[in-house]
Amino acid sequence: MNDGITVGRFAPTPSGYMHAGNILCALMAYLSAKSAGGKFIVRIEDLDKLRCPEPAARDILELLDFLGLKSDAEIIYQSDRSDAYIAAIDKIASVANVYECFCTRAELHAATAPRGEYGEVVYSGTCKNLSFKKKCEMRKTRRPCLRLEVPNETIAFVDGLQGEYRQNLAESCGDFILRRSDGVAAYQLAVVVDDGFQGVTEVVRGMDLISSTPRQIYIGKLLGLPQPRYMHIPLLKRANGDKLSKSAGDNVRNLLARHTPEELLGTLACAMGIIAEPRPSTAAELVKIYDKTKLRADNITVPENLIDDIL
Ligand code: GLU
Repeated sequence: MNDGITVGRFAPTPSGYMHAGNILCALMAYLSAKSAGGKFIVRIEDLDKLRCPEPAARDILELLDFLGLKSDAEIIYQSDRSDAYIAAIDKIASVANVYECFCTRAELHAATAPRGEYGEVVYSGTCKNLSFKKKCEMRKTRRPCLRLEVPNETIAFVDGLQGEYRQNLAESCGDFILRRSDGVAAYQLAVVVDDGFQGVTEVVRGMDLISSTPRQIYIGKLLGLPQPRYMHIPLLKRANGDKLSKSAGDNVRNLLARHTPEELLGTLACAMGIIAEPRPSTAAELVKIYDKTKLRADNITVPENLIDDIL
């Protein structure tokens, strides 16, 4: 339970090495929580064990420690939490329509599939009203995922950096997946269950996840969880506009072979507008001068002094 204290978190998926953008997220989540006198916690989102090689989580935790962005709570691993996700789906199914969907990837991505505002597939509800007989038949050859029916309703929230964000779930994604056909909980569900479980009061993460937030708010409502504050921070981009990736070339370890942790943090803090010049800084120093009103909201091109190392 939360006793009024701010709890922020960094929730990396250990599918590869961290890049400078991941560190920026961790730093911002840390600064936002710590400057409010709160706690910063780290959660490893290794739902998809096959995509998350064992050493990657260890690598992330070691790096965070090295950078002084240490978790104030024991690390939890999503791969250990499947019972909690099953219980959450049961709870959601008691207040909303959760149904089996047998559609294949190819069927979902067919050229005729409806698309949302950004070109993403909107689930058309094909399996929503399957008869009992049809479902029994389908189960013989396909393993279903579970989808949550969404209302034709706009979900709005005020992002701490991006301002108001609105999305109509039915129009932009349609009924979405809570449990994948391989039985693993979907990211959208697990993240909400765990933020609730860990008493997270603020979610600071990259802009690429802002369009997931309305789905997460909706799940949180169905589960009766308090809604955290959200702040979506700019993505770090290369000069040509590409995002950084977790491939070896963008690996933060490469950066740290040439820069001290303080140089890296100072550079990132400067890129975000927290300090005017990129001077070496510790996380603890940055907490003292962190001022949310100075933050940049738009995308950031990788700072010049890092370019040689990450391009
Ligand atoms: N695990 C997600 C990722 O690494 C982030 C989840 C979140 O911050 O909500 O992209």
